[in-house]
Amino acid sequence: MTYISKDNRYDTMKYNRCGKWGLKLPAVSLGLWHNFGDVDTIKNGRGILHRAFDLGITHFDLANNYGPPYGSAEENFGKILKQDFSNYRDELIISSKAGYDMWPGPYGDWGSRKYLIASLDQSLKRMGLDYVDIFYSHRPDPNTPLEETMMALDRAVRSGKALYVGISNYPADKAKEASRILKELGTPCLIHQPKYSMFVRWVEDELLDVLEEEGIGCIPFSPLAQGLLSDKYLNGIPEDSRAAKSWGFLHESDVNSAIGKVQKLNELALQREQSLAQMALAWILKDKRITSVLIGASSVKQINDNVETLKNLAFSDEELILIEEILSLD
Ligand code: NDP
Repeated sequence: MTYISKDNRYDTMKYNRCGKWGLKLPAVSLGLWHNFGDVDTIKNGRGILHRAFDLGITHFDLANNYGPPYGSAEENFGKILKQDFSNYRDELIISSKAGYDMWPGPYGDWGSRKYLIASLDQSLKRMGLDYVDIFYSHRPDPNTPLEETMMALDRAVRSGKALYVGISNYPADKAKEASRILKELGTPCLIHQPKYSMFVRWVEDELLDVLEEEGIGCIPFSPLAQGLLSDKYLNGIPEDSRAAKSWGFLHESDVNSAIGKVQKLNELALQREQSLAQMALAWILKDKRITSVLIGASSVKQINDNVETLKNLAFSDEELILIEEILSLD
């Protein structure tokens, strides 16, 4: 069946500028790290992408090694793109990254120019695209000069294979240095993609200030701590949850150590007439330096729930204090 998106798709979503730049991203963006590999059902992924776009989610985030197996999320996304979204390419912001393990040998990992350029070519092929909107260095490489990695990003833009560049997982000092080099090269840094949630807060120390000073956007990944910051684990580990799967990075021990706080946060969310997932996303979006929250979803229902967050982004001082108290519990 041909997919035609809803005419009202731009009516409710909020769009925020990436730092000082012209590009706007939806306040909620969708990542394809999980649920789009060959181990997943493409029909489910297709439904998720349709619903996301119908709700104004114009940004889909990928990386070379999303799957499993590596590359399969880009391949499956490419199939869905061709089938359903070819008329909407100019309404979409598609990103990919290179920086983690991808292929064997010395040229399939980290931050060399050789790896980044070859990987971007592979990603474009898998997705059937001429260009990505944003290409990221997925992590800093301690053994490659930052200049080399940034020159590779600059090259990606100059060769027409990417419109903008970003960095991910860079600590504040490296982000500042990367920004300086990119400015000198004439391809300024658009956005940073760090891990940030109620449970992981390193960005608050310094990084967000650096990004603001440099005019760079911020799109936090795993804002729900991979699903922990939701009501899904309140009564144990459901069979179809990420924590129950044999692949991935969320384990039973993570659930067990977080559940006490999750229960308390959930009570507060209910008092706010929100789900915990909604409260966790709103809590990140309250900071004006945040461009978008980069969620994952395993169902259409989760997309619906998460976009509903935008209906209540306000917190009282009392609520914020209570959240801090809960988060600081042992
Ligand atoms: P989240 O923290 O949003 O976790 C998503 C998971 O939470 C879903 O798969 C689902 O789990 C659960 N969930 C989502 N919404 C709800 C809801 N409303 N109610 C209950 N459970 C819910 O983000 P991810 O960890 O998936 O990361 C998001 C994206 O960030 C990735 O796809 C990727 O694009 C990017 N990323 C980037 C990294 C980097 O190094 N730059 C690293 C990791 C991610 P379940 O499957 O159990 O239903």
